[in-house]
Amino acid sequence: MPNPELDPEQIERLRSALETHRDELEALLKNGAGAAEPVTLDQQSVGRVSRIDAIQQQQIARAGQQQAAQTLGRVDLALKRIAGGEYGYCLQCGEPVGYARLGAQPFATLCLDCQEASETR
Ligand SMILES: [Zn+2]
Repeated sequence: MPNPELDPEQIERLRSALETHRDELEALLKNGAGAAEPVTLDQQSVGRVSRIDAIQQQQIARAGQQQAAQTLGRVDLALKRIAGGEYGYCLQCGEPVGYARLGAQPFATLCLDCQEASETR
C-alpha cells in the first residue's frame, strides 16, 4: 500500500532526488578510489612531515568514502522500496513518514520519533 502521506507527484520528486543523489555518490566513490589507495611515496623526495600529511589525507578520504558507501546503500534501499510500493514507512514502527521529513532526507528509513529513540538509546 502506498504511503497515504505522499501523493504520486511527491514520490516522483523524491525518486528523482534519490537517483541524482545515487549518481553523485557513485561518481564520488569511483573518482575517490584513487585517494584511498595505500600511501606510496618516494622516500627521497618526500620528507617525514609530508608523509604524515599524506596518511592523514588518506584517512580523511577513506572516511568520506565509507560514509558515501553507507549513504549509497540507504539510497538504493529507498529506491527499491519505492519500486515495491513500500516507500515512506518507518522500518521500526511501520507508521508513514511525512513528506517534510522525506523531502529533507529522501533516504530516511525511520520516522522522527524512532530516529530520535535510536539516537538516544
Ligand atoms: Zn517510527
